[in-house]
Amino acid sequence: MTYIHNTITKLKKTSPAQAEFYQAVEEVLESLQPILETNEQYQLNSIIERIVEPERQLMFRVPWVDDQGKVQVNKGYRIEFNSALGPYKGGLRFHPSVNASIIKFLGFEQIFKNALTGLPIGGGKGGANFDPKGKSDGEIMRFCQSFINELYRHIGPTTDVPAGDIGVGAREIGYMFGQYKRLTGQFDGVLTGKSLLWGGSLARKEATGYGCVYFAQYMLEDKGDTLTGKRCLVSGAGNVAIYTIEKLYQLGAIPVSCSDSSGTIYHESGINLDTLKELKEVRQVRLNEYLDAHPDAKFIAKADYPADSNAVWHLTGAQLAFPCATQNELNEADAKALVANGCIGVSEGANMPSTQEAIEVFLAANIHYGPGKAANAGGVATSQLEMAQNASMQRWSFEEVDEKLKVIMKNIYLNASETAAEFGEPNNLVLGANIAGFRKVADAMIEQGVV
Ligand code: NAP
Repeated sequence: MTYIHNTITKLKKTSPAQAEFYQAVEEVLESLQPILETNEQYQLNSIIERIVEPERQLMFRVPWVDDQGKVQVNKGYRIEFNSALGPYKGGLRFHPSVNASIIKFLGFEQIFKNALTGLPIGGGKGGANFDPKGKSDGEIMRFCQSFINELYRHIGPTTDVPAGDIGVGAREIGYMFGQYKRLTGQFDGVLTGKSLLWGGSLARKEATGYGCVYFAQYMLEDKGDTLTGKRCLVSGAGNVAIYTIEKLYQLGAIPVSCSDSSGTIYHESGINLDTLKELKEVRQVRLNEYLDAHPDAKFIAKADYPADSNAVWHLTGAQLAFPCATQNELNEADAKALVANGCIGVSEGANMPSTQEAIEVFLAANIHYGPGKAANAGGVATSQLEMAQNASMQRWSFEEVDEKLKVIMKNIYLNASETAAEFGEPNNLVLGANIAGFRKVADAMIEQGVV
């Protein structure tokens, strides 16, 4: 359709060299074709031209002093993408690969994900090209303080509420909150993912992984199947992967793999969750140390595997796949291997882990495919539940939050699948999630006028 094509062409000219951002935009816009064709209002109001342009983009210097007394400098970002449905909401990523393209793709995805939750939150994302690995606590604290010295002017409980993402957990949120409080004198719900001691929500840490498994459960149940006894491939060994594995066990499935940037663990009898937590949450070491406790497991070093493919997706004997590490970690060849080896479903814990070609393989094979913006929305949804608890000065129990999470994930699944059916492709949750999220944001934008 020329309207979509022209918008993408123009975007590439005005925002050059942002490959991940174009990838996310193309994936969303192409699936909007059926709704754009039948609704002139969207073209008349230039909705897609507006929706691909962030409302505000902040880029700033983050200077800090390392333990040797040397001044280091990183680049900080916050992209306030769309506030049609509520305050900007989305995580902060600290990773050396962070650049404007990556933060924009994440922020763009966040708009539709947040809309799908049904909660009053807009979309944003931020971060820095800072690598927390190998840094002392003091270095992490000084970096976080410097990052907030700029960002504090732009965030607030009713304007923009950042959370964690890769490289940002409760420790980093703590240091950023402390500095925000010092600069503003305010103790408010400006960040989510906080410690349980001072305003965090029970079940927030678990929410993205748990939600991703609930989503898989609802996809299977809708076709009369269950998670019980299913062998599952999981990638990643961070927050999302760990709590995906935990919930898979709770629902009777058997997760047999996990991975980090050094390689993949395959444990035929099932990943030992206690060992994984000890290695990654407590000691923060590389995954090959898993073998010290479980010599019957296998470690496939990244260096020994072809660079253009991910060992996790070539393991055999599993029925389900949960990509929970990072963007573009599952390509066309990986997707073909999964399907050939009998995989019947994929639920994405990470953001945009599958390339466009891989998604096409899943859709053509007609397997269950839960795209990240639907399947991993449990994290941001529970962040919003944290905001609600902060604003009302309440504290809900773990069970209460988990129950709300289940209902939200069920509604996201139903919203995506019913919208897919409405547009004539009942099993296409990519189309369903994109249209359902877009329609809500677009209609709100029209109602709020040209702003
Ligand atoms: P995390 O705790 O930092 O863990 C990330 C995991 O992925 C680590 O095991 C890391 O290994 C691995 N990884 C990262 N980059 C990699 C690469 N290039 N190659 C191989 N492995 C890589 O982060 P997380 O919070 O679990 O986030 C994982 C994904 O979920 C991200 O896509 C994030 O955007 C998405 N997500 C997170 C949340 C949330 O609530 N946390 C919500 C929605 C979506 P190393 O430690 O070796 O780098």
